[in-house]
Amino acid sequence: MTLNIQNIRGQFPVLNQQVNGKPLIYMDNAATTQKPKVVLEALAAYYTHDNSNIHRGAHTLADRATRAYEKTRSLVREFLNASEEEEIIFTKGTTEGINLVASTYGRKFIQKGDEIIISTLEHHSNIVPWQILCEEKGAKLRIIPVNEKGELEMEAFEKLLTEKTKLVAVVHASNALGTVNPVKEIIEKSHKVGAKVLIDGAQSSAHLDIDVQDLDCDFFVMSAHKIYGPTGLGVLYGKRELLEAMPPYQGGGEMIKEVTFEKTTYNEIPFKFEAGTPNIADVIAFQKAIEFVNELGKANIREHEDALLHYAEEKLKGVKGFIPVGTAAKKVSVLSFLIKGMHPFDIGMMLDAVGIAVRTGHHCTQPLMNRFDIEGTVRASFSVYNTKEEVDKLCESISKIAKLKNK
Ligand code: PMP
Repeated sequence: MTLNIQNIRGQFPVLNQQVNGKPLIYMDNAATTQKPKVVLEALAAYYTHDNSNIHRGAHTLADRATRAYEKTRSLVREFLNASEEEEIIFTKGTTEGINLVASTYGRKFIQKGDEIIISTLEHHSNIVPWQILCEEKGAKLRIIPVNEKGELEMEAFEKLLTEKTKLVAVVHASNALGTVNPVKEIIEKSHKVGAKVLIDGAQSSAHLDIDVQDLDCDFFVMSAHKIYGPTGLGVLYGKRELLEAMPPYQGGGEMIKEVTFEKTTYNEIPFKFEAGTPNIADVIAFQKAIEFVNELGKANIREHEDALLHYAEEKLKGVKGFIPVGTAAKKVSVLSFLIKGMHPFDIGMMLDAVGIAVRTGHHCTQPLMNRFDIEGTVRASFSVYNTKEEVDKLCESISKIAKLKNK
């Protein structure tokens, strides 16, 4: 199906503005996507009509809020094709999901001498929690290398896998380069040595179909704000038997069954991991973001974004001084690049001056930047509301900037 992009753009009020005297061209979608009206309206509607604490209230508003909150859990279950709603835990985001697994599963099950495998492509949030755990436990972090294109070296991965490997945590799609990793193969191979696998889906969940049962991953984490939902909200999927075996993450209200000063018993999953008053409004509004994606269809969104990416890559091929960073065969809509003789930050400022919003820097992937011996890149990342005309503007501007130093 061909999407009606102008109609879609009309659903995003933020896009309708000028920046530095030029129409905004928002191409920082890998940092966060914009929010459609339905999400904004759902937030206002909740606070206007239904604001109430959930699960405990005996009154009508509390009941409405609880049902709406739990409806999102049910939609997320479908979105990820998890088998049970109890396997869906709301978090603050991908970062908290990974920290939760490291602090609970990791603290209980990782021992001295064990090994955890991550990859060179990881975001800092899928590196640092494991470093902290390894330091605490005397475990070892092993790293899958990447090739010149920014793809994982799978043979090296297989060599790293041993009976010492207890956990493999890898990103599904790289936020810095766009590389899509062969996660199904990684999961299968890891399971053969008895390791559990966590997939960082922060960047993949807006673009790729996710089926946690088919993948057979043990944990999957994502952030709502990368798929048109609110910031500060995410999801941790975990297999029931693992979540049940894990100790709680935080103590407080909601996560308990009974508290006495002598002993506390914990609530069932998912509530065991949702201590305190949760982010009710954002969870409820997230429903609308999921429905927005479902209605457009992920395959259609992907087709549009892939077309924009290929169009941009083709247009920029001949530009003198243009250096693409990350040329994997399988990518989501990320165009990372450098211009010979120029600092990424300066390129970002020049693009902003003509209304184009991109990201510059290390993209929270410093070890990956070190691998390519660079400080950072400029990253344009496309979403469903970007147009071919916007890509034309981007490419035109890049060509002009490149000419300044590459005659
Ligand atoms: N992993 C990846 C691949 C990401 O792109 C991001 C966000 N840039 C994160 C993890 C962290 O997500 P959040 O900041 O929403 O917790």
